Amino acid sequence: MSKECKNCGQSLNDDDKYCPTCGTPVYAKRLYRSKTDSRILGVCGGLGEYFKIDSNLIRVIAALIILATGVVPGLIIYFIAGLIIPEKE
Ligand SMILES: [Zn+2]
Repeated sequence: MSKECKNCGQSLNDDDKYCPTCGTPVYAKRLYRSKTDSRILGVCGGLGEYFKIDSNLIRVIAALIILATGVVPGLIIYFIAGLIIPEKE
């Protein structure tokens, strides 16, 4: 996966914090909902991409949290997260 500098178009390494050519800060990693790794809203898939861990592990943790909160509050949090987190282009 390659990135480009928004300012000058220089191709960047994944771990570059600044463009080596013009010094523009590379955009921060953002949390998105995943369209490709999605069961309901893609929140768990997006979290998996963000943290670079298995999205199924996130789903298990999310399910446990939802059960631990008495289901309804956890589901509300999930759907609010789905509203707030933008979908990846
Ligand atoms: Zn640049």
